[in-house]
Amino acid sequence: MATKLLYLCDSYLREFEAKVERVVGNSVVLDQSAFHPLTGGVGCDAGWLNKIDTRFRVVRVEIERATKTVSHVLETEPSGLSQGDVVKGAIDWDRRYCLMRLHTAAHLIAAVMYRDYSALITGGQVDVDQAKLDFNLPRTDREVFEDAVKKANEEAAKRAELKVYFLSRDEALKVPGVVKLAERMPPEERELRIVEIPGIDLQADGGPHVKNTDEIGGIQLLKIENKGKNQRRIYFNTKSN
Ligand SMILES: [Zn+2]
Repeated sequence: MATKLLYLCDSYLREFEAKVERVVGNSVVLDQSAFHPLTGGVGCDAGWLNKIDTRFRVVRVEIERATKTVSHVLETEPSGLSQGDVVKGAIDWDRRYCLMRLHTAAHLIAAVMYRDYSALITGGQVDVDQAKLDFNLPRTDREVFEDAVKKANEEAAKRAELKVYFLSRDEALKVPGVVKLAERMPPEERELRIVEIPGIDLQADGGPHVKNTDEIGGIQLLKIENKGKNQRRIYFNTKSN
């Protein structure tokens, strides 16, 4: 059975209760989870599963695409944890909040690159200490990326409240620019989760974001790399306010 993904409706949920569906080695599947798995170009959460007074450290979280089950990979095999047990999950909030801030910053940079340079994202990864995005651009141009970061910071300073809602796939795909990924359409789902940063960006997106762009902090360009015309790469991070 698919794991209910609690972060889709509330990215700020840090603790939750769930039932153990199965334990295989050091991997635990729950009926529901607030842990974000490694997917959609955003890093996974870490944290803890607690059963009464026993604490199990979650070091990695994975999702199996076909079954949509989330595996919480523990540091060690959990003795005394079995199917049917009720656990309390707690995510490592500092780590998650960094991912949320950087991921939202990535939206702003991508939106500016699309709006002002007609550049589409061809790849990317948001990790806890830095994010990278690849764009298709005719040339590698430091000024273009410097301009994009400057404008993304200006957009962040507008303190826009993000909107998260669900649309039918047909309705969603009618919205211009809803998918800024050059070669990837959303998976075949009847409903798509839409993340909107009013005035600048609207995406079909399954990841966790901050509620307001003022939470991002200052976006800093770390470096650029040229990996070919479809992989002009920018690395960036954010400095908390
Ligand atoms: Zn996103």
